[in-house]
Amino acid sequence: MKKLVIIGQGPAGISAALYAVRGGADVTIVAKDGGALQKADLIQNYYGFEKGISAKELIRQGIAQAENLGVKIISDEVCGVEFGADGYLVKTLKSEIVAGAVVIACGTSRNIPPIKNIGEFEGKGVSYCAICDGFFFRGKKVAVIGSGNYALNEYNVLKNIIDDVIICTNGETPAFSASQAPVDEKKIVSFQGDEIIRKIVFADGSEREIDGVFIACGSAGAFELAKKLGLETANNKIVTDEKRATNIPGIFAAGDCVTGLQQIAKAVYDGMIAGTEALKYLKQTS
Ligand SMILES: Cc1cc2nc3c(=O)[nH]c(=O)nc-3n(C[C@H](O)[C@H](O)[C@H](O)COP(=O)(O)OP(=O)(O)OC[C@H]3O[C@@H](n4cnc5c(N)ncnc54)[C@H](O)[C@@H]3O)c2cc1C
Repeated sequence: MKKLVIIGQGPAGISAALYAVRGGADVTIVAKDGGALQKADLIQNYYGFEKGISAKELIRQGIAQAENLGVKIISDEVCGVEFGADGYLVKTLKSEIVAGAVVIACGTSRNIPPIKNIGEFEGKGVSYCAICDGFFFRGKKVAVIGSGNYALNEYNVLKNIIDDVIICTNGETPAFSASQAPVDEKKIVSFQGDEIIRKIVFADGSEREIDGVFIACGSAGAFELAKKLGLETANNKIVTDEKRATNIPGIFAAGDCVTGLQQIAKAVYDGMIAGTEALKYLKQTS
């Protein structure tokens, strides 16, 4: 059977992994950290713990439970998922993994920088996906907004297509070295333009003429991964059917990145459905 890759080791990702691996799937989880749950303290409303359980301990036990059943867990950051010859290619900062099916269980985080009128220019020069939209900006000037390795990854994608690319870190110190990409570290206050974006305006009053801006703050969240794949989204969530299947066969989504209550029990339920359905899909297509 082809591999199932699950993005995220929160309650949704771990639950999907448990159901898929016990059904015989080869499961790899890629996750960058403990997600929303690592910000929580004592969990008192989840089944089975008479005195509640610390969120950190719940995360630790979930990961250990999955590993004990044979799930491989890789600590890495996913930058994108692409269509590949043998299914899907999950691209991380460190490697590429071939997958027959993917469960996106990335939680809610969507990193939109607090720049005035950013929403006004979405689709009018402001993009969230270098691989999708870079082509439209050939021969033009673009900036990537972000300061982490995800911003550098988007820069490298754009650099293959466009000559004039700069990373604007919006007042933050870049996580990469100056030799890897040209950087402008000034704080951004707004974008300006008419029917399309024309300028970035900085806090010191200076401006940069621009034809396009690619937002890549923090790491790619569920929304950005969905945009790269062409998944249907609504209100920053991935749209799925009752089987947690997205509009693209073999791509499932579960947990806080899907509409509904943002609670552990619901994430575990979603993961169960997504893991079970991904397993069925792999059996049919492998
Ligand atoms: C402060 C706080 C308190 C809470 N208290 C409770 C409570 O008492 N009871 C309750 O039921 N719920 C509580 N919640 C909500 C609960 O934590 C979430 O509903 C639940 O964790 C969602 O699970 P999830 O698996 O969908 O996402 P998360 O738990 O957010 O997991 C997301 C996973 O995706 C990974 N990820 C994201 N992007 C990438 C990427 N690009 N590459 C690789 N990995 C990636 C993250 O590293 C993480 O592993 C609380 C949340 C917070 C913030």
